[in-house]
Amino acid sequence: MYVIQNGTLVSAEKTWRADLAVEGGKITAIAPKIPISPGDQAVDASGCLVFPGFIDPHTHLDMDSGVTVTADDFLSGTLAALCGGTTTVIDFATQDRGMGLGQALDLWHKKAEGRSSCNYAFHMAITDWNENTRRELRDMVSAGVTSLKVYLAYDALRVDDGQLLDILGECQSLGLQIGCHCENGDVVNLLQKRELSKGNRGPTAHPLSRPPEAEAEAILKVQQATADAIKLINIAAPSEGVIKIKALEAFQKAADGRATKIIIPSELQSIAGLAAAAKTVFDTEDPKAIPAKTPPKP
Ligand SMILES: [Zn+2]
Repeated sequence: MYVIQNGTLVSAEKTWRADLAVEGGKITAIAPKIPISPGDQAVDASGCLVFPGFIDPHTHLDMDSGVTVTADDFLSGTLAALCGGTTTVIDFATQDRGMGLGQALDLWHKKAEGRSSCNYAFHMAITDWNENTRRELRDMVSAGVTSLKVYLAYDALRVDDGQLLDILGECQSLGLQIGCHCENGDVVNLLQKRELSKGNRGPTAHPLSRPPEAEAEAILKVQQATADAIKLINIAAPSEGVIKIKALEAFQKAADGRATKIIIPSELQSIAGLAAAAKTVFDTEDPKAIPAKTPPKP
């Protein structure tokens, strides 16, 4: 038995001082003082907060985006997760063009099996919408997939407007939750070319090539497409932290969506912190790169 002693436990409801015992991977006791028996291992958590394992529902491990492969795979990514207290990751089993959904799910299981140090689960990302993909979607539900993602940007990943509408309808009928990477891909492509032609290959090119308008337009598009068809939409913010900083107007649009019948949880809470952190970083390089606005309160 492991006993974590003298820590301050944190739950969703409260924080309190207590010892916590773990046996066979399960919490077996929480009490003000848990006695240690021979063979038990005690950890002194004095002055520390003791959290439940965190869940990161948005990771891209060992993923080829068409232009690059993500830096972390399941080996390094899940070790890093555990070091930060995250005990479960939900990654995106991402279909390549020409690949079936079943193949994609198998591939992601292979990437993760025997290499993950923490728990994992998968959303699925659809990049090739056709009749075969539509048929396979039901099998994915049977395999335990409950959430999907589509991209409106990145040429190797994105779906067009008709496909988006079609996928939304299928998700509604199958009871799947869907997340959208909301950016106007054509606008981003154009602005990327402009920044590259100016020789701007540094980090400031990222937000400059992905203005809030490109995101706001895409959010509105999805909002429009789902207004009559979908009861619950989970619009994920773009995956890159930096773009979130520029996307204040876009997030305001998403927040406005809450006044309609569509429920659009967004990552608003994280934006304020990211904006503050990144503003500090970018201010040293180019003060104009990040708007000095306070993010709207969600
Ligand atoms: Zn993502």
